[in-house]
Amino acid sequence: MTSLNPVFRIGEQVDEVIHLHFPHLSDAEVKSRTLKMLEMVGIANQEGIYQNYPHELSGGMRQRIMIAMAIACEPRLVIADEPTTALDVTIQAQILDLFRNLKDQINSSIMLITHDLGVIAEMADYVVVMYAGRIVEKGTANEVFLHPSHPYTIGLMASKPVVNKKVDRLYSIPGSVPSPIHMPDYCYFRDRCDKRFERCNGHYPPEFALSETHKTSCYLYENSDLNRKED
Ligand code: SF4
Repeated sequence: MTSLNPVFRIGEQVDEVIHLHFPHLSDAEVKSRTLKMLEMVGIANQEGIYQNYPHELSGGMRQRIMIAMAIACEPRLVIADEPTTALDVTIQAQILDLFRNLKDQINSSIMLITHDLGVIAEMADYVVVMYAGRIVEKGTANEVFLHPSHPYTIGLMASKPVVNKKVDRLYSIPGSVPSPIHMPDYCYFRDRCDKRFERCNGHYPPEFALSETHKTSCYLYENSDLNRKED
């Protein structure tokens, strides 16, 4: 929402992206492409919005404009970092719907970075879980949500509220992330892990395969069938 320049009209800001990426287009062609982008992100009165300044639009509309700017240059990959943060739940749902529809219309992939497990479950085909800057688990959304394997992922799943299940306190993983200036050479999660065992005092665990697509960096899976076969 704050990525738009407050002193330029919406049209000028989207036009600029198109001008830079497609310098051979005339001004009229650029404008018509901008209007098409606004239409693609679900903006009804494209000519009117083209003339507006960012402060004249709601948060959800500004988010749509940002998405229009992102897709205007026909990227192969859109990186959406917490795209629904600071939006109310209704607008969140609309923005997620928009991403889902756009994915099929533009020929690109979307990398969604978020802390919201609900959003991931609804949106992602493939999930990568990171802890302290490293990938600890990856797999298809079904694999990670139905069979979380790394203790950090298991802790994350346990900490989300469940509809119809009343609890006094939600689970939280004890301890805190290691300091980035003193990263240990053993598993970064070791000091918070309730499953740690002697092996975990060694070097940072490599990636172990649980299936063709499901991988985890945790010594608990060192001797799983797939890894034994790979040995
Ligand atoms: S390698 Fe050991 S300490 Fe690290 S997550 Fe796995 S069980 Fe826990």
